[in-house]
Amino acid sequence: MNIADKFINQQDLTKEEFVELILLAEADEAVRRRITEEAVRLRKKYYGLDVYTRGLIEFTNYCKNNCYYCGIRRGSRNVERYRLTKEEILECCERGYGLGFRTFVLQGGEDPYFTDERMAEIVRGIRAGYPDCAITLSIGERSYESYRLLKEAGADRYLLRHEAADEELYASLHPKEMEAARRRQCLYDLKELGYQAGAGFMVGPPGQKLPDLAEDLVFLKELGPQMIGIGPFIPHHDTRYAGEPAGSVERTVLLLSIIRILLPAALIPATTALGTLDKSGREKGLAAGANVVMPNLSPLKNRRQYELYDNKICTGEEAAEYRAELAAAVEKIGYRLADGRGDAWG
Ligand code: SAM
Repeated sequence: MNIADKFINQQDLTKEEFVELILLAEADEAVRRRITEEAVRLRKKYYGLDVYTRGLIEFTNYCKNNCYYCGIRRGSRNVERYRLTKEEILECCERGYGLGFRTFVLQGGEDPYFTDERMAEIVRGIRAGYPDCAITLSIGERSYESYRLLKEAGADRYLLRHEAADEELYASLHPKEMEAARRRQCLYDLKELGYQAGAGFMVGPPGQKLPDLAEDLVFLKELGPQMIGIGPFIPHHDTRYAGEPAGSVERTVLLLSIIRILLPAALIPATTALGTLDKSGREKGLAAGANVVMPNLSPLKNRRQYELYDNKICTGEEAAEYRAELAAAVEKIGYRLADGRGDAWG
């Protein structure tokens, strides 16, 4: 029995075994195919052919953090900063609802303007106007009490990529004041509070080695999040990593399949970063086991300003307005866009 069979049988491995699995899969196409087939089988077992959509509202690009890889980090001097008003956010929801979206994801930098009171008011506004929709927040690290208040206001889900489970890699990608352990604790807090929680990481940021990825997989299994977002690292011209190579599409796609097998009932998006690096990245992600897409629902005038990395796509089929085209593209590869909130299985 090789390491791929062992993984498929027990849906878990040690860190050393995950390294072995990735090495073998990258060297052997038959092994890769076997992993993809198992990922697709499990994806269909839990979610059938359904692909869930989320309307992504990027409501502020102010950020107090300085993650070295990110185009909207605090130190990025050439970013034209913006924040949406509550009314503008509600307009996005109205537009999104009309287009068929039943989950709204509010994502932003860690913007101190959005205090607990302001955020709770926005969440309450969406909850009151759209009782049949799920509200997902992705606004970084906050206190347990803050997460509790926002849950009480009506938020259902929270996306917070752990970024890197390996402490050394995390420390090399972030300034001293940011701590891997604190970020991981936030994810445990979110789970305890009853959020559907989402973790994840970039594939191929500077310095990432196979044992780092293996550690990410071990951490994901231990945490057991309902959502997992991974995408390739893409350099931004105004960061210290401007000249670094982007992460690999192939490795990202392989990891999507591995993560589907590791946590078969998870909601896993085919991310914008994957679609940015490869014209058919989104389709490749869905065919590898992903089951969520997150079209951009931000106001058109601000889309280009939320530039996490170079050439980030936000128009064409990536835009919420092109839902019909997205539905056709998804059908072409044998899946279908689902109606409804698209909650995690179970
Ligand atoms: N501030 C919130 C947070 O920290 O979770 C949400 C916004 S943050 C910009 C969203 C995600 O973008 C991060 O978790 C990170 O993985 C991803 N990201 C940032 N810069 C990136 C880059 N250069 N390439 C690919 N992904 C990037």
